[in-house]
Amino acid sequence: MPDNISSNRKKRIRILKRLIVACLLAAILIPTAVSVCLEVKVRELKGQVEALQKEAVQMEAAVEEMQEKAARDAEPEILTEEDGIRAWEEQTKKQGTTGTAQSDIRKVYLTFDDGPSIYTDDILDILKEYDVKATFFVVGEGKEPYEEACRRIVEEGHTLGMHSYSHVYEEIYASKEAFIWDVNVLQDYLYQVTGVHPEIYRFPGGSSNHVSTVEMQELKDYLSEIGIIWYDWNISSGDATGHLAQEQIVKNCTAHLENYGEAVILLHDAADKKTTVQALPGIIEAILEMEDTVIVPITKETIPVQHGKTKS
Ligand SMILES: [Zn+2]
Repeated sequence: MPDNISSNRKKRIRILKRLIVACLLAAILIPTAVSVCLEVKVRELKGQVEALQKEAVQMEAAVEEMQEKAARDAEPEILTEEDGIRAWEEQTKKQGTTGTAQSDIRKVYLTFDDGPSIYTDDILDILKEYDVKATFFVVGEGKEPYEEACRRIVEEGHTLGMHSYSHVYEEIYASKEAFIWDVNVLQDYLYQVTGVHPEIYRFPGGSSNHVSTVEMQELKDYLSEIGIIWYDWNISSGDATGHLAQEQIVKNCTAHLENYGEAVILLHDAADKKTTVQALPGIIEAILEMEDTVIVPITKETIPVQHGKTKS
């Protein structure tokens, strides 16, 4: 029996020894393996970080190049109505006020660009209420939903003028041929819709715009050749500039009116010009309150207000 006990004890001791050796081995090998794995991972991540840093530097350079190009491209271009009007304002500042002809009766012309729109009927209703006639320089492209309003302009005795078919500056002013095409398409379209061949024109951005790649004089000459008279403005309502408050629009239209014998006021008939519609009664009332002042539509007999010209 004691022999049995001693052999069992030896066996247990052997097992214990092996366990201790196994534990020691595990204690050495597992951390080693883990650290090797971590080292590999760290190197991999380092590589990725370096690649990303390189990419970031490249992108930064590309962005800088694009910004420089955009700045170069943007410089002389005038691509919005607002910019076109600003060009006129700058020119007016340099040359002094035009259109200051004095006569016994002051004539005021309310002109609406860019229509017809969702507001044309509202504008026409207000004009009817005050028994006042205005001038609409309209656009053709995409205006099919407002053809009825276009006919109303003519039927109610207002003047229908042209303001380009597409109103896309880059297209209209790309070449003389492009301009001619645009004028003719609009004139034909308006004839189909209203039965009237409009004979007056307002250049998108005004005749003093800087965007045209063609000499504006060539385009003016073309209009003269086909018997069309073009009109700019000498008072801007300022409504091309974002969403101007109605009170400000009234003020812009009327504050300097007394300096003019003939005043052509620039307004817009467009979906985002609600305050222009709201301002209209106030504008009309202020004008009608002035002595010896009438509101009339532009006709071919109206002496044109044209930018860059000083009238006597
Ligand atoms: Zn316009």
